[in-house]
Amino acid sequence: MPPVPIRAITSYHAHIYYRDAAEKRTAETLRAQIAERFSVQLGRWHDQQVGPHDRAMYQVAFPTEVFAQFVPWLMLNRAGLTILIHPNTDNPRADHLTHAFWMGEILPIVRPEQLPSALAADEAERIVPNSSPNLTA
Ligand code: ZN
Repeated sequence: MPPVPIRAITSYHAHIYYRDAAEKRTAETLRAQIAERFSVQLGRWHDQQVGPHDRAMYQVAFPTEVFAQFVPWLMLNRAGLTILIHPNTDNPRADHLTHAFWMGEILPIVRPEQLPSALAADEAERIVPNSSPNLTA
C-alpha cells in the first residue's frame, strides 16, 4: 500500500470533552479563548453522549491551514481537558480509530462500526467559521 497523501485531509476536528460542571466551566473558558483567536467552526454543546464520543463534548471544526497555529495553542492551553484531534478524509472510521491523536486521556470510540469507511467526494464537510477572532494566539 502506498502512503496516503496529505491532500487526503480536507479539514480537522478537535473534540473538547468534559466530565462534570467544573470541567464544563473550563471548557466554556477554553471555547471563548478559541473564538477570540482562531477562525474556526464552533459546534453545539453535547451534554449527552453523541455519535462515537464517549463523554460530553463540543466540536471545533477547522481548515487545514489553521492546524499549525491552533493545535500547538491547544497543547499549551487545554487546562487539563481531554481533547481528540482527528483529520477528515474520505474514511471517517479510520480518521477516528487510527488517524487521530489525543491530548490527555485516551477515550474509547463508541460503536466504531457505525462510522462509514468510505465517503464520496461531495460528502466532505464544508467548514463555515463562526468565530470572531480579534486577538493573536
Ligand atoms: Zn469529529
